[in-house]
Amino acid sequence: MASTTATGDNDENTTISFGCDYAKSSNAKCHGKYCENEISKGTLRLSRLIPNPFIPQSSTREEQLMPVYYHVQCMINYLRTGNEKKKRIENVAKNLQGFDELKKKDQEKLKKLFNYEEKLQGNLSETSTTVQTTYLEHDKDKKYWQISYDNKSTKTKYGLLDEPDSNAIILYKDFSNKAEAKKYADKKIQEKIQKNEYTLKKQTGVTTNNQTPVATKRKRKQSPAPANTASTKRIKKQRTIITTATRKQPTRSASIRK
Ligand SMILES: [Zn+2]
Repeated sequence: MASTTATGDNDENTTISFGCDYAKSSNAKCHGKYCENEISKGTLRLSRLIPNPFIPQSSTREEQLMPVYYHVQCMINYLRTGNEKKKRIENVAKNLQGFDELKKKDQEKLKKLFNYEEKLQGNLSETSTTVQTTYLEHDKDKKYWQISYDNKSTKTKYGLLDEPDSNAIILYKDFSNKAEAKKYADKKIQEKIQKNEYTLKKQTGVTTNNQTPVATKRKRKQSPAPANTASTKRIKKQRTIITTATRKQPTRSASIRK
């Protein structure tokens, strides 16, 4: 089982509720897995309320809980990983305590961000027709690993072959473009096969090498219009010079007539 708990979020199933507010000081550090930076005073932050391990059971329920704070994006990253059972934010207005007290623009920002997450995950669902999935199995360890990608995001899913699907760990990633997402997926697949000794079992939705639809109507190469030959032909208009023979008036010879 140790092999599947790669996320290391031991407390990921213990979220009691989610909240949001503006950091009252810069003291709290972000709980984000790769962050751990401070959340500066006044910053919009999200939180998870979890059981406080330092308070004895005898205390009141309020005291038994403690918040852990996240930068907005760090919370999103936290929510992009883990198994199905993990508690997540489905609707910011409903699931985030303190949402109504936020500035309007921050409410809109959160709505937009979480709508995007929903879309991203929907696009990568197993029923999606455009998604490309590669499924690998590790025969010896009886575990599986699969990666799907669609547009510019990826979904990795892995777990033990004899465990229910809901135990599988899922990880969503979003990239700046499609090529980056594909690069990541290809790299991971190679890594699993070469280093971790997984075997490729099936691939779905994989198009045979970038079938960019060829335009059925071939554009006729338009040859340049024939040059106007008439213009080149030098029609020499021969000017017929009509010389009017000037009839010479008989000059009267000055004959001296006597
Ligand atoms: Zn952070």
